[in-house]
Amino acid sequence: MAEDTRSQVRRKLEAQREETLAEISRLRNTLKCELEYDVEESDPDLWEREKILALLRNMEQKLESIAYALRSMDDGTYGICESCRREISPARLEALPHTTLCIECKALTERRFAPAPLKR
Ligand SMILES: [Zn+2]
Repeated sequence: MAEDTRSQVRRKLEAQREETLAEISRLRNTLKCELEYDVEESDPDLWEREKILALLRNMEQKLESIAYALRSMDDGTYGICESCRREISPARLEALPHTTLCIECKALTERRFAPAPLKR
């Protein structure tokens, strides 16, 4: 990867890290408000809280991926799939600079970790 491309991607990743951190603290605040609010409520909105928690988990995962991508940039392995060690396509990196998996491995993990349908 060319040096100028790399510093461009790094800037993009750092900007994303900032955004993700801001989103995480926003979600944590929302959650805190929800909890305080629910003390007075006889019927807490668990569904809403679950939704925020799920979002929070997503954001934390994203943050990890971003940190991983930045680290791999330092040790020169950026753009290599974490799972199969093949190169991730440039188009995919362009769209998702923090991704650590190629499209095939990503599809596999999504199938494996697909959440069970909610029983209501
Ligand atoms: Zn792969």
